[in-house]
Amino acid sequence: MTDQSTSADDAHRESTDQLVFQNPVTRYPVIEPPEQQQPEPGLDAEMQPKSDRGEFSYRGTGRLEGRKALITGADSGIGAAVAIAFAREGADVAINYLPDEERDAQEIKRIIEESGRTAVLLPGDLTDKAFCEQLVTDAVEGLGGLDILVNNAGKQVARKSLEELPDEQMVQTYEVNVFAMFRITKAALEHLQPGSTIINTTSVVAYMAPEVLVDYASTKAAINNFTKSMGQQLAPKGIRVNAVAPGPIWTPLQPSGGQPIEELPEFGKSTPLGRAGQPTELAPAYVFLASPESSYVIGETLNVNGGMPTP
Ligand code: NAD
Ligand code: MG
Repeated sequence: MTDQSTSADDAHRESTDQLVFQNPVTRYPVIEPPEQQQPEPGLDAEMQPKSDRGEFSYRGTGRLEGRKALITGADSGIGAAVAIAFAREGADVAINYLPDEERDAQEIKRIIEESGRTAVLLPGDLTDKAFCEQLVTDAVEGLGGLDILVNNAGKQVARKSLEELPDEQMVQTYEVNVFAMFRITKAALEHLQPGSTIINTTSVVAYMAPEVLVDYASTKAAINNFTKSMGQQLAPKGIRVNAVAPGPIWTPLQPSGGQPIEELPEFGKSTPLGRAGQPTELAPAYVFLASPESSYVIGETLNVNGGMPTP
């Protein structure tokens, strides 16, 4: 009898340990992506190894029940992980992506619908001002309202020197990362009621600007400042604006020009955790900032970067 209850206790303790005390160093694999290249914008479906967007692990607890979210760049990577998490937390989700990413988008739609929520697919190019505005109108119509906006789409192409940075790339990087965020946020304001939340995706490179990402890193610093300005502007209206700053995360952005190809096998290894992050590790930060439990958090940038020091 005693022996039996001891072993049952042990089994219980073991399973609780697995759930509660997971070591962040080993919770996800240390990946060594082989050198690979995809044309921009890249597909999750073509990545080696596959990334983890939480499809098989994210469990919701009703923290976004009945909410209506628009997420840009949600076909893949971090945006896809956020879309899956939001749906599992009870939100309906509209996702924007480029037409070339239809294959990835259909997969996320399937997962959202399997989670019992509505997915609205809104493909289109965010470098187009008119599309940015239409996107908000279509999201509101498709969802029957809007109370969460996640500005997450991003363009990142590494260049060895400023001389090798084409003017066209510089402009497009600013259009996608900065101007679209301004335009979509502005268009969303007339629809957002008190209690709504806006979350922007910035980056650790806003503080640790790599020499090969001159245009991209400077857009991420701009996103941090936009978040702080708008946080103050909208707080009295009951709308909170915050940001998430990922570190090195294994997503299609990286093998489609985001990193020099020869550096992919070492991607993320220089973080204190010694590994790249997976998109699903970002999702809880977005859920926290979207939900009312973060009601006193405004203009904040939440760093999710494997331990790299930030200001
Ligand atoms: P990702 O490639 O999966 O997502 C980026 C998305 O941006 C694409 O899926 C695409 O749909 C969208 N996009 C790009 N250009 C567009 C355009 N012209 N019109 C419409 N959509 C467009 O990669 P990700 O890493 O998940 O990127 C998501 C965000 O995270 C980006 O803002 C990126 O800068 C940021 N971020 C990523 C990392 C990382 O290491 N992966 C680190 C810090 C910040
Ligand atoms: Mg994509």
